[in-house]
Amino acid sequence: MRALEPTLENMAMAAALLAKGGLVVVPTETVYGVAADATNPKAVERLYEAKGRPRENPLIVHIACLDDLERVASHVSPDARRLAERFWPGPLTMVLPKSDLIPDVVTAGLPTVAVRYPKHPVAASLITLTGKPLAMPSANPFQRLSPTRVEHLDPELLAKTDLVLDGGPCVVGLESTVVDLVEDPPKVLRPGAVTRGEIQAAIGRPLGTLPPGGAKGPRRSPGMYPRHYAPHARLLLVDRAPEGSFALVFGQPSGPNQIRMPKDPGPYGAALYAALHTLDSRKPEAIYVERPPATALWDAVRDRLERAAEPE
Ligand code: AMP
Ligand code: MG
Repeated sequence: MRALEPTLENMAMAAALLAKGGLVVVPTETVYGVAADATNPKAVERLYEAKGRPRENPLIVHIACLDDLERVASHVSPDARRLAERFWPGPLTMVLPKSDLIPDVVTAGLPTVAVRYPKHPVAASLITLTGKPLAMPSANPFQRLSPTRVEHLDPELLAKTDLVLDGGPCVVGLESTVVDLVEDPPKVLRPGAVTRGEIQAAIGRPLGTLPPGGAKGPRRSPGMYPRHYAPHARLLLVDRAPEGSFALVFGQPSGPNQIRMPKDPGPYGAALYAALHTLDSRKPEAIYVERPPATALWDAVRDRLERAAEPE
């Protein structure tokens, strides 16, 4: 399928397709998403089908104005309001009690809904043009690498969608931070570009920690599978990549199959999936990734690498 420039005409066409129950691939600042009208259960069914996503893995609902938060959530706490004011539009998803507007299929039967207000102008305008909240998971087949450029999109997934909007490379490059505000204290279910420290500073108190077993389990966050975000090749986390191997390295690359990665977590996160897609397309047996520092600022990158890696 041809990816279209996000001109006014093409955006209007995308909005019309969504309003009729279609699926559209959309650039956001985190990763490319595949969108459906979140209030249309049939469209959302098609979305799970297209991704091969298990029905127990709930979807994030995307809005493009603060007032819409009250339409998709039945209760907006003072913490939620503060976080929305501080980080929206941006890469933060909040889990809140859901309203009746959101059908059960979107939330996998949970009484809660995950909500985000994306910053990317194409995603935000498309939501506004459609006039509906959009359910929008990453535009990758279940458990594979998320796309951060249209060239990464999987042909089988594309065959099941109606239109692709090309917004160039995603600037954040990692999926949003997910914070659960239903129980007190709030907890981070998935680390992302908005850090734990920034959330604590915004709400003025410490966040809780997940029980042993992490974000897995039916209530906490059903979509947090231990294996996720994986390339086809085996991914091995190492201190130093073997010479000449397929690898993401911090120092001088040895050979054409090694990619030198940025030394800061923000730029590293933005480059990570593109680098893995590039090496994976050469069909190696294994990709070595040099372990990033064990500090809090690297939480999001480490989380994705650990889920993509072979267990030791
Ligand atoms: P993705 O759209 O692929 O980036 O994944 C979205 C993730 O958000 C899911 O895998 C869930 O782990 C999490 N999520 C979505 N809705 C909820 C919810 N109601 N409660 C807890 N976690 C959620
Ligand atoms: Mg995903």
